[in-house]
Amino acid sequence: MRSDLAIATNGSAAVNTIKGGAVSPLRGEVARVVTTSWDDGDPFDLEIGRVLAERKVTGTFYIPIQGHHNNGRIERAEILTLDSGGFEIGAHGISHPNLPRCEPRQLVVEVEGSKKRLEDDLGKAVKMFAYPNGRHSSRVIAAVKQARFDGARTTEMLACGLAFDPFSMPTSIQVYPHSRLDYVRNLARAADFSRAWGYVTRVWPGSNWVKLAMHLFDRVLARGGVWHLYGHSWEVQEHGLLNALGVVLDYVSNRPGVSYLSNGELARMSPVLSAEPLVCGEGRPL
Ligand SMILES: [Zn+2]
Repeated sequence: MRSDLAIATNGSAAVNTIKGGAVSPLRGEVARVVTTSWDDGDPFDLEIGRVLAERKVTGTFYIPIQGHHNNGRIERAEILTLDSGGFEIGAHGISHPNLPRCEPRQLVVEVEGSKKRLEDDLGKAVKMFAYPNGRHSSRVIAAVKQARFDGARTTEMLACGLAFDPFSMPTSIQVYPHSRLDYVRNLARAADFSRAWGYVTRVWPGSNWVKLAMHLFDRVLARGGVWHLYGHSWEVQEHGLLNALGVVLDYVSNRPGVSYLSNGELARMSPVLSAEPLVCGEGRPL
């Protein structure tokens, strides 16, 4: 029996099986994908799961083995509740370290060890990883590939292109009231800074994260692409962002022609999506 967190399977978004068994939202038109991800395994994750499930939006919860924030870590039974509710569980290290600074042996323990511990708890494969605080390097990416993950999420924002490296999966927007300067700093690490800067200075809809989230979704709806919302449930709780999150999720959910996927489903579709026409400008970020 599925829990009350259960989400409907794909809702109105028809998902077709393509050769090789990959799942694609392609229906003779450019893909439009909504995905969400939630880091750190805080007990408030269950509340996030509830508001997502109410709107038939899915996503991935990245859970470290040790508690990262003050509230401690979600219990195993609660992880199983999220899993049985249709959400993906991803790894986020054992102790949430700065991975590029880890010694080689510690890096393996953090990456492979966190995967194994979660798999033991879940009784199923864990295929996605999120770099703690987004910090990664070529050495860290190699370790994640060596551990046989399908992909890994960064904390890069303002991306909505269909072509991306599944081991450097970017996001579109964080559930957090960032300043414009925060976004500029984040974009400074982007591959194409000049175009990113042009976006922030010319097309910028304002620092209000709710307006920005809707603006980015409108672009994906109009041109195709991936709208990736990420956040930390403890921040949602501490900053009183749950109602605003509900407004954003109401806006993006239950839309015809949009596929609602976990991060892992999206990563495994990456080769197919990369062959799609580029959208939202010429690639990523916006
Ligand atoms: Zn984290």
